[in-house]
Amino acid sequence: MVQTQLEAAREGTITEAMAHVADRENRDPEFVRQQVADGQAVIPANAYHEALDPMIIGREFATKVNANIGNSETTGDPETELEKLHTAVHYGADTVMDLGTGSDLDEIRETHIDHSPVPIGTVPLYEAVKQAGSPEEITTELLLEIIEKQAKQGVDYMTIHAGILAEHLPLTDGRTTGIVSRGGSIMATWMETHGEQNPLFQIYDEICEIFADHDVTFSLGDSLRPGCLADACDEAQYAELDTLGELTRRAWDRGVQVMVEGPGHVPMNKVAENVERQQEVCDGAPFYVLGPLVTDVAPGYDHITSAIGAAMAAQAGAAMLCYVTPKEHLGLPDENDVRDGLAAYRIAAHAGDVGSGHPGARDWDDALSSARYAFDWREQFRLALDPDRAREYHDQTLPEDNYKDARFCSMCGVEFCSMRIDQDARDRADGEMDRLESGIDLESSPAAEVNRPPVGTHESAMLPSDETWTDRSVEEAGDD
Ligand code: SF4
Repeated sequence: MVQTQLEAAREGTITEAMAHVADRENRDPEFVRQQVADGQAVIPANAYHEALDPMIIGREFATKVNANIGNSETTGDPETELEKLHTAVHYGADTVMDLGTGSDLDEIRETHIDHSPVPIGTVPLYEAVKQAGSPEEITTELLLEIIEKQAKQGVDYMTIHAGILAEHLPLTDGRTTGIVSRGGSIMATWMETHGEQNPLFQIYDEICEIFADHDVTFSLGDSLRPGCLADACDEAQYAELDTLGELTRRAWDRGVQVMVEGPGHVPMNKVAENVERQQEVCDGAPFYVLGPLVTDVAPGYDHITSAIGAAMAAQAGAAMLCYVTPKEHLGLPDENDVRDGLAAYRIAAHAGDVGSGHPGARDWDDALSSARYAFDWREQFRLALDPDRAREYHDQTLPEDNYKDARFCSMCGVEFCSMRIDQDARDRADGEMDRLESGIDLESSPAAEVNRPPVGTHESAMLPSDETWTDRSVEEAGDD
């Protein structure tokens, strides 16, 4: 019989996973245990996921980033999907959701779990629709069968769209963009066709039993999240949130870990309100947000519109950010989109941690700033969030090796380099630049390992080599 991390924490046990994440985050193991016991943090760690390098998600810990991958009817064999996993982890994803809806789903999922050092999340409803043939044909038996199968395969967390209820549906009638969650639209179709309550809500206790048996973590889906600013914070969104609060407590009563998903599209002035409301309604369960996008007018740049909202959400207490790529709303992302999306979200997560005063978060910034003022270009590249990109841009105009020791770059040029001018002036005044020797030591800093470069903080020995797959694509981010 598996004991969940939540059950172990409640009885006072510091598990191996808790000790490991405490080490990674430079926190006291007892603090980690207490956070898990109180439901304020989760360690998604299916007992059957042997390749896992455990991590923790909670507002008291470094903000995490999720990347979505997965095949479709037309793209993605098992080998391609494994390369997508590698790309996501290489560019710094803390968790990966497999949203595949194409062929070979079991083989792909099992291969991911065999190789992935990061937690794997799924949306079992997608496989149910695929097997049933249409949303209307789904049965509660089929849902339970698929959820149990995926739990046995080692999936660490599952999005379960149990919070959208029949009585919520009329509340969406006046919306500008209706129901934009894929899972939400499937459940709404089922309820309207059968005239019955959400089947995932009906079998919620059985799902809890399966999750408890394997230590699968709930990611309670926000089926009624707003798909545009006009629908943000409406009655439908908040009515579902109230149900998610009840479902959170029901899962906790059964010893199951829970995080709660959130919007979507939200104007800047309402981002913090969303986080605070979720924290209150769901008793502090970790909030896992998609973006939110703070404006609807920039298709092609939605990794930026959403990273702004994500940074604000992280500062306000969101625990994990689901990345959005530049292709959001437009098409399937390719490798460059994944890289840009993950960079945007790692920036958002780190900026949020700096803004909220997360212990040690700013040491990284201070170390890079010192390297910058010292014209230590190699150290700047090493510390950069995306070292390859930083070096590539520097090399575009100053490729020769000697420029790696230069006291200027091509932006202002040698004559107008303000930092050089400033240093020369100080040299003349002081004789020497003692201040440059301050040398922040990141290795002994309280900054968590998760806050430090280079990208990709997980043990990746199990992953295939770093191949380029420029012609390959991944599922559209955030479409769960
Ligand atoms: S040239 Fe300008 S941008 Fe480049 S290092 Fe000097 S001050 Fe900074």
